[in-house]
Amino acid sequence: MRAQPVASHFIDGAYVEDTTGAPILCTYAATGEDIARLHEATPPLIEAAMAAAARAQIAWAALRPVERGRVLHKAAEIIRARNRELSELETLDTGKPLQETLVADASSGADALEYFAGFAATVTGQTVPVGGGDFVYTLREPLGVCVGIGAWNYPTQIACWKAAPALAFGNAMVFKPSEVTPLCALKIAEILIEAGAPPGLFNVVQGRGAVGGALVTDPRTAKVSLTGSVPTGRKVYAAAAEGIRNVTMELGGKSPLIVFDDASLEDAVGAAMLGNFYSSGQICSNGTRVFVQKGIKARFLDRLKARTEAIVIGEPLDEATQFGPMITADHLDKVMGYVERGLAEGATLLTGGARLNRPGTYMQPTVFADVTDTMTIAREEIFGPVMAVLDFETEDEAIRRANATEFGLAAGVFTADLARAHRVAARVEAGTCWINAYNLTPVEAPFGGSKLSGVGRENGHAALEYYTQVKSVYVGTGPVDSPY
Ligand code: NAD
Repeated sequence: MRAQPVASHFIDGAYVEDTTGAPILCTYAATGEDIARLHEATPPLIEAAMAAAARAQIAWAALRPVERGRVLHKAAEIIRARNRELSELETLDTGKPLQETLVADASSGADALEYFAGFAATVTGQTVPVGGGDFVYTLREPLGVCVGIGAWNYPTQIACWKAAPALAFGNAMVFKPSEVTPLCALKIAEILIEAGAPPGLFNVVQGRGAVGGALVTDPRTAKVSLTGSVPTGRKVYAAAAEGIRNVTMELGGKSPLIVFDDASLEDAVGAAMLGNFYSSGQICSNGTRVFVQKGIKARFLDRLKARTEAIVIGEPLDEATQFGPMITADHLDKVMGYVERGLAEGATLLTGGARLNRPGTYMQPTVFADVTDTMTIAREEIFGPVMAVLDFETEDEAIRRANATEFGLAAGVFTADLARAHRVAARVEAGTCWINAYNLTPVEAPFGGSKLSGVGRENGHAALEYYTQVKSVYVGTGPVDSPY
């Protein structure tokens, strides 16, 4: 077992095991090799994690914000120093190419820790004059114990994007990684301790949905931040509502990428590929509905086919590899099912569409052209490397069709016309819109979805709203005007 952690869970500052929990087998998607065997958290471990977080939070919140920031800064430094080791683990955990993980995972987690480390000490309240010499001042307080629940596509980044703002603003966290990728968050917990975080501040418990459910409904839980699919989001949001808990929901998408005739062809093709094939297409914000204006369509498809067929598919640990396997055999079957639906419903297969005859869960990067709005591949989130290209004629038509979806995570527009770019950005229903770019998510910018794609925002200044609460303190300065 080449990636076996010390133990399954990290609670109150130390690795903890309880082999009576149901097993979780971790496999390397590129080969099918078992790389680690872990166990789900049992009720006593969930209790231990929640109790440790509740205890640690009180002293942590009382620290000077610069001191909290110093710990997060140190954690970011350690992550950067160990980038290669953490990236290799991320590759084993997810099957994503090392070429990607070296630049997109641990480093993005470190960015979040650095950003919120600096942010911590800048948080202040307001003074509000209310007449007669009285005034109100506001305090920005932490929420308390926050529960983070992660998806499997970005295990390090998701853990850090949740932990960094939570801890910076004085909260503690119990994090449950996806059962498919349980390894990376343990390293973040270890590193935070090494950086000086108190035991119990950031805990990792493993498990499937039921463990997540127990965390969400624990009476000590003040806030739940989920990254996952819409069906899971519905369940977690409803369970959190029972206790009137705060939530952030980072859910799925079916984002449009609109390419106008005047766009730079190579940039638009490159962005469409980035927004469909990076991480083997397993990215929530992918621009999976590529609307291409009719005048550029033939040239766009020619270049797209040529460049897609040149993608280097291979062993993810080889740094030359650009495209790896799908996360699991079940997920590969699901994505291949969508390829079959695309064919059956009359889309034109431009390239790809087949499984690869090699060990591991590989399929080809796939492009369908002549896709129409009603086809299944244009409506449902596939979460795989399946791009749907749709034609359009006018700007109004493109926007109307782009918005005709229940999702609202992201959107993109490629055009040389500045005014049009901003018009489109203003009208698309999405939490993020890229102009002449795609899938860039710097920590400085808020990220999250509208419509079914989610509630709340991660990153940027916006995160403050989702990891703190405001207390108003009214200060009376005169006699009390009581009618009694
Ligand atoms: P998933 O919904 O199957 O699982 C997400 C997490 O929720 C897992 O940790 C799972 O164990 C847990 N879970 C499942 N049922 C639960 C329950 N009843 N109570 C509490 N926790 C429960 O998602 P996935 O397959 O791991 O990830 C893929 C999905 O995530 C896609 O839809 C993708 O778009 C989405 N995603 C969104 C973002 C974003 O930022 N918007 C980022 C990455 C992935």
